[in-house]
Amino acid sequence: ADILKIDAEKLLAIGEIAASVAHEVRNPLTAISGFIQMMNNDPTNPYHAYTEIMDSEINRIDLIVSEFLVLSKPSLKKSTEFYIENTIQDVIAMFKPNFLNSSIVCDVQFHEDSTMIPGNEDGMKQVFINLLKNSCEALKKNGIITIKVTYQQETVSISIRDNGPGMDTETIGNLYEPFFTTKEGGTGLGMLISKKIILDQNGTITVTSKKNKGTKTLIKLPLTPVKKTASING
Ligand code: ADP
Ligand code: MG
Repeated sequence: ADILKIDAEKLLAIGEIAASVAHEVRNPLTAISGFIQMMNNDPTNPYHAYTEIMDSEINRIDLIVSEFLVLSKPSLKKSTEFYIENTIQDVIAMFKPNFLNSSIVCDVQFHEDSTMIPGNEDGMKQVFINLLKNSCEALKKNGIITIKVTYQQETVSISIRDNGPGMDTETIGNLYEPFFTTKEGGTGLGMLISKKIILDQNGTITVTSKKNKGTKTLIKLPLTPVKKTASING
């Protein structure tokens, strides 16, 4: 079990670098991608095997850049009122094929008296996508994901638990480090992005994990609108 902290200033700095790098990388990438596609479509191209790899590697750079752009967005602007249960249902619907393919059971426990909460709905959708994706990738056979929503006086709590392999201490310690991944093809940005989105809404995220037992993520969001603080304005 471990509680993790991240420095808000570090996150801000990453966001600023992310924005400039992402935009600078995107433009030349689009040009390269166009030419490679042209080569790929040419039946006389003798380097098909190579250009195909180039194409898929470019797609990978594009994925990382897209995730980086999420980091750089000031998400307070997008504040609305929404039912978190609806957001969760939307994301579960997206994952249905995934759940079926890997025979994962997703158990949802909503509270009867749900209330609208203020915040960034698109952002929260992204958070649930990142978390469910991680659980799916971690789960093998007989996977169970349990999602619970409960309301307290001033917060809503959402817990997402899986009975996957859990994490070792090194992984837990690096969970929010940019580009830290234990997966082949992972970007190592999902948890960092999730953390940023939640912090932007004055929420908290706590991950607890035990090797061979599973992983639980607890998110708490305030039920009243976020007051912009003077110190953070990005
Ligand atoms: P990525 O998924 O691209 O690797 P993340 O930031 O989403 O990047 O996750 C970082 C790492 O944390 C993962 O590579 C994995 O080792 C670990 N992790 C995250 N969620 C889980 C989970 N539910 N079960 C086991 N390990 C997890
Ligand atoms: Mg991930």
